[in-house]
Amino acid sequence: MVRELTCIQCPMGCQLTVTETPDGKIDVKGNTCPRGAQYGAKEVTNPTRIVTSTVPVANGEIARVSVKTKEDIPKGKIFDIMKEIHEVKVSAPIKTGDVIIADAAGTGVPVVATKDVAKAV
Ligand code: SF4
Repeated sequence: MVRELTCIQCPMGCQLTVTETPDGKIDVKGNTCPRGAQYGAKEVTNPTRIVTSTVPVANGEIARVSVKTKEDIPKGKIFDIMKEIHEVKVSAPIKTGDVIIADAAGTGVPVVATKDVAKAV
C-alpha cells in the first residue's frame, strides 16, 4: 500500500510517500528531517491529533476560553471529543491547565484550558 501525505509537523509541508510492505515494514520518502519519517509512519499505523476548540465561560472577563486535548488522541475520536466539548460550559476564574473534561470520549486524555480567564468585575 502506498500513500501520499503532506507532513504537518512544520510549515515546510514536505510531500511524503509512505509505503507499507506486505511484511508490515513502513518506508517513508520525501521527508527533509526525521520528524517527517515518524509522522508518515504513525499516520498510516495509528493516526493521532491534538484537538483544539473553545468553550463558553460564565461570569468571565471574556466569553470563551480556548481548550485542547492534553495529548494526541486517536484521529477516529475527534468527532466524539468535539461533541463533548460543545456540551461543556465553565465558570470563571479559569487557569491555564485547568481540566475541563477529565476523560475525553473514553480516551483517558483530559481536555485542558490553554488560557487564563479572570472573573468579570
Ligand atoms: S519532514 Fe521535517 S522539514 Fe518536512 S514538513 Fe515534516 S517536519 Fe518539516
